[in-house]
Amino acid sequence: MSAWLALIVALLGPEPAAPPSAEAAAPASAEAAEDPGAPCTYRTYSWDVQKKRGVNNETIRKTRGELAADERDPQIPACTVCSEDQVDVAVEGLPTVTVCRLYADRVRTALAQAHADGFQIKTLIGYRVGRTRGAIKGTLRTEFSNHSYGTAIDINAEQNGLYGDCGLKQIAAGAGDLKGCKLRVGGAWDPARRPKVTVREGGPAWKAFTAFWKWGGARTDKTRDFMHFSPTGE
Ligand SMILES: [Zn+2]
Repeated sequence: MSAWLALIVALLGPEPAAPPSAEAAAPASAEAAEDPGAPCTYRTYSWDVQKKRGVNNETIRKTRGELAADERDPQIPACTVCSEDQVDVAVEGLPTVTVCRLYADRVRTALAQAHADGFQIKTLIGYRVGRTRGAIKGTLRTEFSNHSYGTAIDINAEQNGLYGDCGLKQIAAGAGDLKGCKLRVGGAWDPARRPKVTVREGGPAWKAFTAFWKWGGARTDKTRDFMHFSPTGE
């Protein structure tokens, strides 16, 4: 600490000079700092696997103390379904995206970096609460995705689709081999034809976001989610 900074800190009192970074903020301490009476509001829906669309749109209002376990990100419990935990990230010339406040600075930096490296960002989806994965009850999905906590981002879905049913043989081959995969959401992934809008290993968007998140295109199960970055890649 410089002498000047030390003097300013001394004058200002015992307040920390800077808020802890998201990485430094342990989830436990972030939770401890929460006011259990603070409001939590969010809009949600459930994915109907038969109708292939969202149903049961509703607005939930509760307190943070009433949050169920699945209303928090399993890895980053300070990121929740609550809209109060989300912030808009706006980079000039790019679409605005909403993410958990813990990741706002890093997402902003990554978007600006990818943009500066020539990557064209057409659409972005961050925070969006919905039960879109996991076990099916009746015809409805029952679990929240990472997007529900603002801990995931989808980039250019129309050029970076989500594929399922990828055969076991493709796992070792990695993201480049899509034989057997079926396009489920968004548009076809074709990095050779559309390099400036396609997320690919080693490309500008990949470089910027894998600095802190994992890429869904590198999953080794039967899914390839090329548009998607999150703490787990899932
Ligand atoms: Zn996603």
